[in-house]
Amino acid sequence: MSARTFILSLEGVCKTFEGFKAIHELNFYLDEGELRVIIGPNGAGKSTMLDLITGRARPDKGTVTFGRDTDLTTLNECEINQLGIGRKFQTPSVYSDHSVFENIWLSLEGRRGVLSTLFSRVRPADRDRVHEVLSTVGLSQVAHSKAGNLSHGQKQWLEIGMLIAQNPKVLLVDEPAAGMTDEETARTGELLMSLAGKHSIVVIEHDMVFVRQIARKVTVLHQGSVLCEGNVDEVQNNPRVVEVYLGRKKRGDS
Ligand code: ADP
Ligand code: MG
Repeated sequence: MSARTFILSLEGVCKTFEGFKAIHELNFYLDEGELRVIIGPNGAGKSTMLDLITGRARPDKGTVTFGRDTDLTTLNECEINQLGIGRKFQTPSVYSDHSVFENIWLSLEGRRGVLSTLFSRVRPADRDRVHEVLSTVGLSQVAHSKAGNLSHGQKQWLEIGMLIAQNPKVLLVDEPAAGMTDEETARTGELLMSLAGKHSIVVIEHDMVFVRQIARKVTVLHQGSVLCEGNVDEVQNNPRVVEVYLGRKKRGDS
């Protein structure tokens, strides 16, 4: 074994649902500050892998480790989130009746929940931090709009902003470009690239244009295991990947 420390390590992980092997002997290592893209056909186990990292599901076997030695399999979802592992689900969930500013403010690291926040004033340091996050995700212009009135793409960026507001070490993002226009997709790619380094990021995505835009290293998941890893060209030219994923996708089967 090397002495290298990863921010996330999954080793020999298995997860079965009613006899179906959703994750099978999965090994996955994420470097600190890395932006990793995970692709794979529907049902490959991509979202389940995130469930196992975030404590939403428990592995039947194997280890899930954060940093050098924090065993995530013994912690619940809330504890894992508090360690600095944030997840963005596919469908955006924002407080529609609150402003964009308030949504970020409510999410700030160290806040005690919606009620205590709504009855308190915005501290100057918090205001600065909210504006910093809004600028990062490109929503400064709509800070005072109701979140419910944003476009689909803007809601996704707001939700990424709400995650960043918690200052997570690891960001797990499931299919951020789904339902976005090409322009929104490209902006999302730029945003994620700007966040890498400061955060370690795992992005699950289907859109190969988007994958090519952002990816340094791509992991292909198939039947709950890693089929191959490499840069976009290596992965796209790998005959097994073409067979199980890209080939089928060309025929419109993904
Ligand atoms: P992906 O995100 O790669 O499309 P998933 O991780 O969502 O794939 O699903 C992998 C497989 O595990 C699928 O066959 C799915 O039906 C199954 N699965 C996922 N979560 C559950 C669950 N909670 N109960 C039963 N089966 C599940
Ligand atoms: Mg999924």
